Amino acid sequence: MNRLFAPVSSLTGIGKKTAETLEGFTGGVVCDLLWHLPVGLIDRRYRPPLVEAEDGRIATFEVEIVQHKPPPRGRRGLPYRVLCRNDTGFLTLVFFHAKADWLTRSLPVGEMRIVSGRLERYRETLQIVHPDHMLAADEFEKLPPIEPTYPLTANLSGRVLVKALAGLMPEIPALPEWHDPAQLAAQKWPDWQSAVRRVHQPVEADDLTPLAPARARLAYDELLAHQLVLALMRRQQRRRPGRAFEGTGKLQGALHDRLPFTLTGAQSEAIAEIARDLAAETRMARLLQGDVGSGKTLVALTAILQVIESGAQAALMAPTELLAAQHAATLAPHLDALGIAYRSITGRNKGQKRAEALGALADGSAQLAIGTHGLFQEDVAFADLGLVVVDEQHRFGVRQRMRLAAKGHGVDMLVMTATPIPRTLTLTIYGDMDVSRMHEKPPGRQSVETRAIAMTRTEEIVEGLERVLGRGERIYWVCPLVAESEALDLAAVEDRFKTLRARYGDAVGLVHGQMKPAEKDKTMDAFRRGDISLLVGTTVIEVGVDVPEATVMVVEHAERFGLAQLHQLRGRVGRGAAQSSCILLYRAPLGENARARLRIMRETEDGFAIAEEDLRLRGAGEVLGTRQSGLPAFRLADLHHHASMLPTIADEVRKILEHDDPELTGERGQALRCLLYLFRLEEVIGYLQSG
Ligand code: ADP
Ligand code: MG
Repeated sequence: MNRLFAPVSSLTGIGKKTAETLEGFTGGVVCDLLWHLPVGLIDRRYRPPLVEAEDGRIATFEVEIVQHKPPPRGRRGLPYRVLCRNDTGFLTLVFFHAKADWLTRSLPVGEMRIVSGRLERYRETLQIVHPDHMLAADEFEKLPPIEPTYPLTANLSGRVLVKALAGLMPEIPALPEWHDPAQLAAQKWPDWQSAVRRVHQPVEADDLTPLAPARARLAYDELLAHQLVLALMRRQQRRRPGRAFEGTGKLQGALHDRLPFTLTGAQSEAIAEIARDLAAETRMARLLQGDVGSGKTLVALTAILQVIESGAQAALMAPTELLAAQHAATLAPHLDALGIAYRSITGRNKGQKRAEALGALADGSAQLAIGTHGLFQEDVAFADLGLVVVDEQHRFGVRQRMRLAAKGHGVDMLVMTATPIPRTLTLTIYGDMDVSRMHEKPPGRQSVETRAIAMTRTEEIVEGLERVLGRGERIYWVCPLVAESEALDLAAVEDRFKTLRARYGDAVGLVHGQMKPAEKDKTMDAFRRGDISLLVGTTVIEVGVDVPEATVMVVEHAERFGLAQLHQLRGRVGRGAAQSSCILLYRAPLGENARARLRIMRETEDGFAIAEEDLRLRGAGEVLGTRQSGLPAFRLADLHHHASMLPTIADEVRKILEHDDPELTGERGQALRCLLYLFRLEEVIGYLQSG
């Protein structure tokens, strides 16, 4: 096992520089490199007679070296040619910028050589430019008949990777088997060692397909490790004694009486599910999934009140200061009316004010804390914390949840996310939690009119905004960030800002990720107050800000955005009474996939439906791995192909933890620990023991 966790620089042919490149690309240890799977293969078994050889193919020949033809003196731009032949025809080897003495040494005239590379035809001459392999005739067995090719980055040569991994293969250890032997046999899966070797040393094109036995096994391994961790966390959650917060219903009733509307069916259902969890002796770990605007805040507040009625405290945690401030502002009227003391704990509250807030939470005179993850810093102590509500948690992964749960010391936990996740994936990502889904939106909500418009009509759109601004409404204008070049992207946003400013003057503001948080907050505040009415920005606009007066969302280069992101962006408008619209500006021509995305956006506003379409269009690996979702990215599993394994894995995990080896101490349990270690999930074991 140690071999797998040695630094990548320990591999053959990997120098310090390459190791650095690899670290950024795949990770710093050998194991990370192992999960970098081949995407293609080079078959060198094609050995036709020279006269019949097809150009464009990779081929291998045994030839006699006939003549060297260096470029004429002073013509370094021309290639160095080596003429060869055998009984079946002629072949020319071509080298650019070649070292003549190296070539005369490796290809001596009159000797036989085995050469392999891609064939080209240049004016009737069959040639190979820079052969991949040139071997002496008796070295044939050194020529790999089939070589894998890997996805590359700019600074990484394929040859280096192939060589390093080929050198590693003999050192791959045999690990104890964590699969049920019967299942292994039924599926005809190889053991782990053979599977790793087979994926990196494919022998046929089929070996590269996701369902090939070796690949399927490794994918299953990864999903099993992940599901096992989630199940262990869930079990731990339940094992710890929780508290029953029955509540009295008094505050909850008073809140609902205050509301100018009635709860939606989805809200009542979610509230009932949470109330049951809170009242139970076990600890709650529940995920509340609901589209933007579905009214999650009210559900959370009701839960908070139930805990406060029971005499305990609650904490509400948002991902950014801005959102924490927004929560505090929207909840304040209710909290004040109900006589609940709350404190904001954010980076902005410093010194005297922070000290007072900390004191109130520590002595129990405040019943609710609202803030960011700073709520869980060392100096924040609660008199009697009973519930933690985490909003917009889609930016956290399993590891973060693990740490959060460890800090909470037995409190109930409610996680809210506005990122709808396809049903098939919910288990994969949130297998450690119970899930409430809110499909319904409050009645009377206007639908957002969505149009896709070619960017050639941008000017027309810019002019049209005059009417919107004239009505006193507000507008978002989003430009894409394409990770490749932040400087370029920023320039694009700033250019758009300038043109809009030239047209609409001081009404236009700019916000982007490179700004200081305080500056960003200031601009957003100005937009909320209406001092700015046209806000140009990058996708920083995406997260949760609530400005009911905003009625138009323009997305420039909409074809570059994923469905989930477009949906989140559109969710920023349509929050007030006025009719809202979303304009998706695209650059033609559209690819098939981009066309489908824009069509789906026009057809539906249901986030769950959009998430399902997203999964269908992109494949789960991508849905999970995308930067904006922050959800776990699998290295080996591609749920597009491997999702059907999930139910089996769920059954197996249950069987292991409830029956076969609950503490993972037996022979198979030890092997499973080894599996967790392999995927660096072993910290869950430490957490479980300490907890
Ligand atoms: P989410 O957090 O799910 O995006 P919010 O909780 O911010 O949604 O609610 C969006 C808006 O809908 C708020 O202005 C809220 O007051 C309002 N709202 C919530 N529940 C209802 C309801 N049952 N009927 C009408 N409006 C509601
Ligand atoms: Mg919200």
